Amino acid sequence: MNIKKQYNILAVDDAKDTLMLLEFDLAEEGYQVFTADCGEVALKILAEQNIDLILLDMYMPGISGLAMLQKLKAHPVLANISVIMLSASDDEDQIVAALEFGADDYVTKPYIPKVLLARLRTSLRLLEKTLELESLAKTDFLTGINNRGCFDDLAHKAVSLAKRNELPIVIAMLDIDFFKAVNDNYGHDAGDKVLIKFAEVMSECFRDYDIIGRVGGEEFSVCMPNTSAENATIACDRFRERLENTQILLTDSQAESITVTVSIGLSLGQGAEISLDDLLKKSDISLYQAKESGRNQVKLYSDEVVAIDESALSVDKKSSSEKYPGIDYQIGVGNVLGDDSLFAEILVMFYEDHAQDKDKIQQAIATDDQDSCKHLVHTLKGVACSVGAMTLFEYAKALDVAINLAEKESYQALFNPTSLELTKIMSGIEEELADKL
Ligand code: GH3
Ligand code: MG
Ligand code: MG
Repeated sequence: MNIKKQYNILAVDDAKDTLMLLEFDLAEEGYQVFTADCGEVALKILAEQNIDLILLDMYMPGISGLAMLQKLKAHPVLANISVIMLSASDDEDQIVAALEFGADDYVTKPYIPKVLLARLRTSLRLLEKTLELESLAKTDFLTGINNRGCFDDLAHKAVSLAKRNELPIVIAMLDIDFFKAVNDNYGHDAGDKVLIKFAEVMSECFRDYDIIGRVGGEEFSVCMPNTSAENATIACDRFRERLENTQILLTDSQAESITVTVSIGLSLGQGAEISLDDLLKKSDISLYQAKESGRNQVKLYSDEVVAIDESALSVDKKSSSEKYPGIDYQIGVGNVLGDDSLFAEILVMFYEDHAQDKDKIQQAIATDDQDSCKHLVHTLKGVACSVGAMTLFEYAKALDVAINLAEKESYQALFNPTSLELTKIMSGIEEELADKL
């Protein structure tokens, strides 16, 4: 038989002659064989070697095969190893118990080598398929790095750990600048090549224990455990610069290559109150600030501006939600360095430019006008972030993603909350700033 990979098989049996036979038959087939004459020795080998499959005798002095099986299946890592039980033919109840505890299969003793080897191959095939599926479920198919689900999972764990140990952690959101233009000018395949190269440079630039992932079309994230804001900013800026200087080949010849730039938003989490959602939100805000300040730059989220505003606002006790429903006043006014009257002017402009957006977007959806729809929603998303309309920003963002992915059937469902939120915000501005409108 052709064994593609060198599998490590552990045979556990207290009968020395059975062990010798197993070792001979398995080695003959090209497997790497380890043997143990009791459960204790087997556990020691399992701690030291990377075992793929165990042939486990049901009856042994000390830890019985069944007890050992239970131990293995309760272990976070060892539970993935395939187990074939070796049993006397009259052990029916025990065999049923073993299969229920998670054994893959059983072979009766004395065994027929041909049969044992065939069953072993089946178990290994199943193991490969399971591992393949597990890895596919975690990997982004285009770039090969963590997909959104896997990134979220790992980042969640990292944030919990940081919280428990009171260590700093940084989340970065990265978005390629003018990526749509790459697709428009060079085609979708070229766009894909850029995404692949982007992920490659990311993998090279960030440390091994930083968690990287592709979290959207041309959006990526990095979670940097145990890192100060200053060091994370330096790391992100180094990546930004490296990317800017990377020639990305679009064809196999050296002739056609392009460069792209990236905007990056960071936020630092420290202390007992941090959450991944909050950090992602804050990084998103700084990312939009990076875009608005000219792109190709790194911005760190800061509460400082907000802190200044709080004292400036002390005369006006009306809370943000009372004042402008749907708008986080502190974020909005923070974006204009705490200038209250400038913010009011901006809200007036926002009202004038976007009060009709609801109808315009609805019209674009109804007439299947993809371009207008995309333009309106993309602009609304950016401006919602600038004025601190964070819920609107989230809704518009979800709609924007759906439009980019051309998921037409979800437009209306995603538009409905966007529309309600817009109505709420616009009526709030109308009420508060009636004299200026
Ligand atoms: P900005 O600087 O504001 O980020 O501009 P942008 O053009 O990068 O932003 P926008 O969100 O308008 O465009 C993102 C584009 O990414 C649109 C979408 O077609 C493209 N995209 C998303 N996923 C993929 C993908 O898997 N492959 C390719 N080639 N393009 C993708
Ligand atoms: Mg984007
Ligand atoms: Mg972009």
